[in-house]
Amino acid sequence: MIKMIVKYKCRSCQSEDIVKNGRNVCGNQQYRCKDCGACKVLEPTARYSDERKEEIMRAYQERSSLRGISRTFGVSRPTVAAWLKKTPAAARGGGRTPPRKGG
Ligand SMILES: [Zn+2]
Repeated sequence: MIKMIVKYKCRSCQSEDIVKNGRNVCGNQQYRCKDCGACKVLEPTARYSDERKEEIMRAYQERSSLRGISRTFGVSRPTVAAWLKKTPAAARGGGRTPPRKGG
């Protein structure tokens, strides 16, 4: 029998003195560190690689539709919107098509 023992450490101070602290809005397990008081997600979901990000940004520039991008790449719209804020180059020339609500 193989037992997998996973030891989690605080991602801020590497302390092992952490306790479970419920789940966040996405349903991810959170922990609280007794040493530094950090309150974070235990296993953060995989981030997008820079390449993937670039690809999506380029697609956004071509199609300029957050909805279409999120459907094509499976990225949430808030995620893409956050990237756009961080990469002003990708958002250049913004305001061509105002986002329509509803639909
Ligand atoms: Zn800590």
